[in-house]
Formats: sequence, C-alpha cells, structure tokens
Amino acid sequence: MSLIVAKFGGTSVASPERIKGVARRLAAMHDAGNQVVAVVSAMGKTTDELMGLANAVNADPPARELDRLLSTGEQVSMTLLALALEAMGYPAISFTGRQAGIETNGTHNRAKIVRVRNERILEALSAGKIPVVAGFQGIDANGDITTLGRGGSDTTAVAVAWGIDADVCEIYSDVDGVYTTDPRIAPRARKLDVVTYDEMLELSSVGAGVLQSRAVEFAKKWGVVIHSRSAFSEAEGTYVREESRMEQAVITGIAHDKSEMKVTIRHVPDTTGVAAKVFTALGENSVNMDMIIQNTSLDGATDISFTCPAADLPKAKETIEAVLPEIGAASYDVDEDIAKVSLVGTGMKSTPGVSARAFRTLGENNINILAISTSPIRLSMVIEASEAQRAVQVLHTAFELDSESVFEETQLSAEEIAAKMNKGR
Ligand code: ASP
Ligand code: MG
Repeated sequence: MSLIVAKFGGTSVASPERIKGVARRLAAMHDAGNQVVAVVSAMGKTTDELMGLANAVNADPPARELDRLLSTGEQVSMTLLALALEAMGYPAISFTGRQAGIETNGTHNRAKIVRVRNERILEALSAGKIPVVAGFQGIDANGDITTLGRGGSDTTAVAVAWGIDADVCEIYSDVDGVYTTDPRIAPRARKLDVVTYDEMLELSSVGAGVLQSRAVEFAKKWGVVIHSRSAFSEAEGTYVREESRMEQAVITGIAHDKSEMKVTIRHVPDTTGVAAKVFTALGENSVNMDMIIQNTSLDGATDISFTCPAADLPKAKETIEAVLPEIGAASYDVDEDIAKVSLVGTGMKSTPGVSARAFRTLGENNINILAISTSPIRLSMVIEASEAQRAVQVLHTAFELDSESVFEETQLSAEEIAAKMNKGR
C-alpha cells in the first residue's frame, strides 16, 4: 500500500468524459489498497480563457483580482472530479488551495509556497475519502487568494506530497514521460526510466519542458520523488529523483531551442569598462542574456556577441542603439535564425572528452558552431537554425542514445507523437 499524490493536467480533465476517466483511474488506485490524493489543473484551456475575459474588461488587470479569477478554473475541475467519484460510490471531498492548507507569500500571479498544513487532507484520508485538491492556488497572510504561476499545479502536487509525506508524486499529462530527445526530431528517441532533478532542471531550461521547473526545484529541495506519466495509458513513465541510474550513460538527453537570437556588436573599442556598460544597460532593460562571446581584439577593437530570447528583440535594439554612440562601437546586427542544441547529463561530470566528441561530431557533419556555453552537467552549442534537426540526430547517435526501435515503426501517427511531446499541459 502506498500513499500517492496524483496530479492531472488540463488536457486530462478537459471534458466530463475525461473527468470520469480520471475518477475511474483514482478508484482503481484506491481499490488496489493505496491511499490517494488528487490534484487537478483547470479544464483544458480554461486558464487562458479566464485571462482573456480579464483582458477584455481591463487591459492591465490588478494582480489580486486576476488571481481571484484564475483560481476559479481549478475550483470547477476539483468539484467535478469529486462529484464524479461520488457518483461511482467513492467518497470524495474537494479542497480549494486554502482548504488544503497551501499558504503562500503575497506575490500575486507567481506566489511562493511558504507553508503546507496537512491536517484536512490527512483527516479526509483517515476517514476513507479521496481528497481532491485544486492546483495552482494558495492563500496569503491577508487571506487573499494567490496563484503559483503558469503550470503551477505541478508545484501544488509536489507541495501536497511533501506535506503528507507521500511515497510518490505522480504527474499525469498527455506526455508519457521524459525522452532522450524530441521524437518528432529524432525518431530513435527513447523514453527515459529515470532522470535526476538536476538533469530535469537543465533539460527544462533549454527547451524540454515536461514539468514546471519550480515544481522540480521544490521536489529536489524536499526530496519528493516525481513520476511523470501518461493520463491515457497504464505504461510507466519517467521517475525524477536524486538517485542516478545503475548503468550511467554519459549523456541523458538532448534538447533544442529555437526561441533565441544572436546579437553582435561590431568594432567595440577594447578598453576597460565597455562590456560592463553594454551589459549593465541590457540588464537594466530586462534583456535576458544567455551566452556572451567576446572575440580577440584586432587593432584595439573587438566584436561582442550575446544570445537572448527573440522576444526581447525590441528591448535589446533600443538599448544597443542608445549605448552604441556612448561606447564608440561601429554597428550591430541581429541573427534570428539560430538554434541552441544542449547535451545534458550528470554522467558528464565524470567523463572527460564530452565537448571534444560533440564538436567533432558536428564538425564531421559540416555543422558550424557559433557559440558555446557549459554548466557542470550541460553543454550548449548555438548553430544555424536550419541545421538543428540534423545536429540533434547526429549527436543522438554519437552519444549512443538511439533506441533499437524507431518511433515510426511503432505505428504512431504524427499527431500521436506530437501529443506525446505536447508541452502545454
Ligand atoms: N491552470 C493553470 C495553468 O494553466 C495551472 C496548471 O495548469 O498547472 O497554468
Ligand atoms: Mg495547465
């Protein structure tokens, strides 16, 4: 018998039929002798729709009111799920964030959980009921409703799991786990049995978002084991936990991200304090820089490049145009057709030569590397966007991640593969 927290994402509760399906799944877990607590997201695209309604009456809705409104989405799904369970003869009780004891700070729209009171959930469990908790929301010290940021139901689930000391926090979605890479890009991608918290965090930060990063950070801090699995099949998914695998691969996964751009400032005078001026100005205008490259100087001038989200382009342009005359640089250009390909794996720490192997692989395939950055368990390379797919494939093979069976051979349709990898929950 286990104590399980089971979180269901928006797609899994998108219709009354699906809610009944979730209820059947919870009932089966209960019948198997487990104690189970459900956490739910809002139905389908409800949160977006509520946001749209708010914007239709107020272009800049106050954060407190917005939270009040958004929190209603999860309150609908939690109640419907409890009703569905009751209809099947399983006693259930729904709880809002406040009732479930999720206490947060007062930062509306992206509140942090400061405390979890577990009494009501434990009471319900010992009375033989299935508690159903509204994800994404909490209560601040003033008694105002807060929300935890988009995708925040994952964080609620982890917090509840920690609060009641559950054996596992199961996160059900339309994705059946974490893959070595995107199967739409590399048909030989494999589902991973286990990833460590750090690997999961690195993978999400470079474009492979299966779980909300905040939730993974909390899980790591609190030692909560996450099991990311499909709401639509019985198959085991991927465990996210501290322990690494028995047989350690050098690389666990490869992610790619086309959402960044590269800006190069030409002919910057090579004098003290120039870089500081440029990057202070960019920082002050909230341009989120990722990689920075300064070339060796020729004749006392140098080129400085950096990458940042393409969405920051207007802010970046404005900032650079303002500082160009100040620092005496010649011009700048923007390259939006880039992709960042990242290798992630804790195995990297103990294996020398990973970068050399990656560079060699790309070199042999005539793929030019424009920029490089690393962390202890990640190697990221910026290349031309048109080469991204090929780069992922050749690296996947070079680092021995290919599975024997090809995705196409499993007779999944393109849509099914897309659904597996669908990032929006
Ligand atoms: N309903 C919220 C959202 O769409 C929270 C969640 O789904 O986790 O972001
Ligand atoms: Mg959602």
